Order: sequence, then C-alpha cells, then structure tokens
Amino acid sequence: MSGEVLLETRGLCTTFEVRRGMFGPKGVVKAVDGVSLSVRSGETLGLVGESGCGKSTLGRTVLRLIDPSAGAISFEGQDITRLSQPALRPLRRRMQMIFQDPYASLNPRMRVREIVGEALDIHHLGARGSEREGRVEALLKRVGLRPDQGARYPHEFSGGQRQRVGIARALAVEPRFIVADEPISALDVSIQAQIVNLLKDLQEELGLTYLFVAHDLKIVEYLSHRVAVMYLGRVVEEAPAAGLYSEPLHPYTRALLSAVPVPDPTRQRRRLVLTGDVPSPINPPSGCTFHPRCPIAKKGLCEVESPALRTLREGHQVACHLAE
Ligand code: SF4
Repeated sequence: MSGEVLLETRGLCTTFEVRRGMFGPKGVVKAVDGVSLSVRSGETLGLVGESGCGKSTLGRTVLRLIDPSAGAISFEGQDITRLSQPALRPLRRRMQMIFQDPYASLNPRMRVREIVGEALDIHHLGARGSEREGRVEALLKRVGLRPDQGARYPHEFSGGQRQRVGIARALAVEPRFIVADEPISALDVSIQAQIVNLLKDLQEELGLTYLFVAHDLKIVEYLSHRVAVMYLGRVVEEAPAAGLYSEPLHPYTRALLSAVPVPDPTRQRRRLVLTGDVPSPINPPSGCTFHPRCPIAKKGLCEVESPALRTLREGHQVACHLAE
C-alpha cells in the first residue's frame, strides 16, 4: 500500500474508572494501553483478538467517540486528540462507523429512507426534495437493497439487510475512513460472506480505508492488507496479512491461528490450546501480560519484564522476548 497515512495513533491509551464490588475502592482499567498504529489511504487494517482485548474500544477512540486518556490521534495529518466536539463535526463526515448490531444502531421508529436521509441532513449535504430522494435510492441500490424497501422500518428486514442499511447510512456522507466494528459477527454464516464482499467492492470502487475489527481470523485475512493482534489493550503483533498468516511470530497469534480450519488438512497448524480466559484488565498480570497463558513463557523473564514491540521482519513487529 502506497497511499498516504490517513489515520495514525501514537501511544494511545483509553482508561475507564471502575469500582471493585458495590462499595469497594475505585480502580482504573486500561482498555487501550499505549497503541501506535497507522492506516494508509485505501488499505484495510484488521484488528483481531479475543473479546475483552480492547479492539472495539480502540476503534471508538480513534473516531473520538470515546476520549483518550493519553497519546495522540491524527487524521488526514491533523491532530484530533483534543479537538472539541463542535470542531470535530466537519471531520465526522469523513470518519464513519459500521456497528456490530445493526438493529441496535438503527432507530426503530424511522423508515429506512429517513435513516439514510438523516445522515445527509446532519452533515448539511444540501440535498432536498427529489434530489435527496434520488441520493437515498442510489445508496440503497448500491448496498443491494431495492429503492422501494426505503419505505420499510428496520424490524421488517433480516439481519443482513439491516447491516446493508447501516452501511448505506455510513456511505451517505461520503466518508474516507470507516471503522467496521465486528460488522458480521451477529449475522448468519451464509450472510457474512455477502456483507464482506460488499465491503470489499465498496473499498475498490470508492477508495475507502477500513479499520476492520473482528475476532474471525479467516474473514480478517480475506479483507485486510495488514493485521494487528491485540491482547489486554496492547498490540502484540502487527504485520502485512500474508506475513502474519504464513509466519505468525507471537505465541498468542500462533494459538489464535491454530484454531482456524484450513482447506487443506495436511497444512493444518499444530493445535495450540489457550488455557484460561483473558485476565481481568483491572489487575493485569505483571511483565508480559500473556505469560500466565503462554506455552513457552520463560521463568524469571516473562513475568518480570514487559516486552516492547520489535521489528523482526520487514513491516512485521512483535512484542515477545523470545520471538526471533
Ligand atoms: Fe510468552 Fe514470554 Fe513471549 Fe510473553 S514474552 S509471549 S510470556 S514468551
């Protein structure tokens, strides 16, 4: 990918205050912990990890739907880390989000053509009367819906169709950058491929840039140019998709990939079963936060020292003391 860097984060942190028990002391959860990433124009950066690893929080933070607690975010070369909401408004048009649960994100009392048209109104895109109607119809057609379906309400659609409405709403304002937050995980497997293909076609046609958040590594491989793997709020591996899938270097990535079925069973990776769940981010393990679950953790090192991201191949970074 040779496009300019569209979105960049440096040492980005997002923290939440939580209370331990009903009367317990307040604690701080670092949901995103010092993430530095860049996404180039026209590319898809896949963001993967188990649930609770911070990937959705990171997606919302880069759009400034959640305020970061430290670090920096730049979009189109502009530092947007501390921009006020009014100052962000003109940028919002170019940065959109597609949500995991299309039903929850669509107003049930509005007809679909109003939902899509509302985006045009919010951003003062000027269209009125038949011009506006024409734009809404064209958007519905572009995402694979019939224009007459614009008269229906969200509950009259299937899950896949509702996600198409969500995509049409995001496209209405002609964005450059879209955070797709698990856009297919609530859908039937038979529908998932259709939505993924639609996103891919739209990218080619409109030059869109995606941050694609997902836990399904197969889908991420299909869509992404580069992939970042997150664990407990940190990026532990980042690489071009082909390099990450052919030669994963972090034990966590290896374990995630070993659970993905491959078409040729003779090429199936040796299964590495991850024991236990992702630890609570309220009280993360010392040193390398993956050490309690790591099959190759080295005593006296991994539970003491936190590994930094190191570049081990061209464009391939890993945060593991033992990776080489
Ligand atoms: Fe495992 Fe140690 Fe590498 Fe962490 S640093 S992934 S515990 S080997």
